[in-house]
Amino acid sequence: MNYRALGVRPIINALSTYTKLGGSIMPPEVVAAMAEASRTHIPIDELQIAVGKRIAELTHNEAAYVSTGAAAGLVLATAAIIAGKDPQAIKQLPDLTGLKNEVVCHKAHRNGYDHAVRSVGVKMVEIGSKEHTDPAELEAAINDKTAMVFWTQGAMSGPGDIPIEQFIEIAHARGVPVLIDAAAQLPPVENLWRYTQMGADLVVFSGGKDLHGPQASGLILGRKDLIEACAVNGSPNHAIGRPMKVGKEEMVGILAAVKWYLGLDHEARAAQHDQWVAEWCAALNQLPGVQAERSFPNGAGQPVPRAKVTLDVDRLGITGDEVVQRLLDGEPSIAVAPDGPTSLYLNPYTLQPGEYKIVLEHLLALLQSVQQPSTV
Ligand SMILES: *Cc1c(COP(=O)(O)O)cnc(C)c1O
Repeated sequence: MNYRALGVRPIINALSTYTKLGGSIMPPEVVAAMAEASRTHIPIDELQIAVGKRIAELTHNEAAYVSTGAAAGLVLATAAIIAGKDPQAIKQLPDLTGLKNEVVCHKAHRNGYDHAVRSVGVKMVEIGSKEHTDPAELEAAINDKTAMVFWTQGAMSGPGDIPIEQFIEIAHARGVPVLIDAAAQLPPVENLWRYTQMGADLVVFSGGKDLHGPQASGLILGRKDLIEACAVNGSPNHAIGRPMKVGKEEMVGILAAVKWYLGLDHEARAAQHDQWVAEWCAALNQLPGVQAERSFPNGAGQPVPRAKVTLDVDRLGITGDEVVQRLLDGEPSIAVAPDGPTSLYLNPYTLQPGEYKIVLEHLLALLQSVQQPSTV
């Protein structure tokens, strides 16, 4: 696609697998699988079951379901936990009259994506604070209206939380299912089975982030009975999930992506990223008023190195936020991660081969152009 013909400028992405930047770039294997899938009619519910079975085997899970994204996965998982396969309850959603209607979660975990959980009509019951949450608060929050407990893994989860294993244990002791949003928790690849092996009932992942699947795809992994309930609550059935239709191309595409991701040499990939970060830092550290260093792990605790670039704002006369904006406005448009007035991050893991050099050249040129004459 020639995006420029539409008047939309492509972006070199040294930021992250952001939905608003197009997620990730599918490898040729995934594109080929989708193209092949696009040529034939197929019974879609049978395909969903067959693909789910393969993905479950590959990811060491009991069962799997392909959704249109992790957020859609949260809607379906919540619906499946609340309504199960009961036709009356399924039809009634998001009206929760007579059904369990409370979801307990850490206050610190509240984030924009939990709108997906709330869209099933539930009330979020928050426990704890950003600093600390006590296991007793979870015990006290669970009652006979509690449909499930919900955990978001990411930059918002932290050392003040109830340890995840204990969170699961307390919920299960009361017969309450656990849903985990791990949408962006790849790498490491082992996370595809880590949370379910800890005992989580359902876990969602985005297919359009580091899995490099179709941007509009996601995975729900976990308990067989609940995955079956996801299917009943999802398209093509007339249920809450019907607007989140999954196409045959997404189903086959994400299966190809899972295979591709499991077969990746993750160590070689990490070594490559380390090398780019090292090159960035070495070059940037030549400039007066600029200090660059490897930062690891990333903000969400994932094993991905980044370059943290710190600016002497007085000396350079430009802030980190201004550098971020000027790179984005430049030609080509380059997205890097903002980090307030004095620093920014360069993230290697969404870059295409060769792009790390373009990012470096443009950042160097920008920082050289703002150097005060007296410092040269
Ligand atoms: C990206 C993300 C989502 C949404 O994933 P989609 O696949 O884009 O629907 C949900 N939760 C978290 C924590 C995320 O980072």
